[in-house]
Amino acid sequence: MDTEKIQAAIKTLKSLCSVIYGSRAHVNITAEQGVDFETALACMERQVPKTVNRDSIYRFSGKCPSCGVVCTDDEKYCKICLQALDWESEAEK
Ligand SMILES: [Zn+2]
Repeated sequence: MDTEKIQAAIKTLKSLCSVIYGSRAHVNITAEQGVDFETALACMERQVPKTVNRDSIYRFSGKCPSCGVVCTDDEKYCKICLQALDWESEAEK
């Protein structure tokens, strides 16, 4: 899916949350309120690829930028937290 579209949707959903829940948008908005926006937003944010810092010795691997588990560069998504991984843009040091 288009990363820019996802980022736009995240922005829209976040502002919608703050309109509905005000400052409570940062607290736990749970299923009790009807929609679990926190979980929905977390899932959406994981679809936006994050740059992986490749291991300095084992260049084919690196740690997931979200949860820290070691992934290999044939993985487009972290096997643990499902974060989308960007192996192309070399991380700034
Ligand atoms: Zn992860």
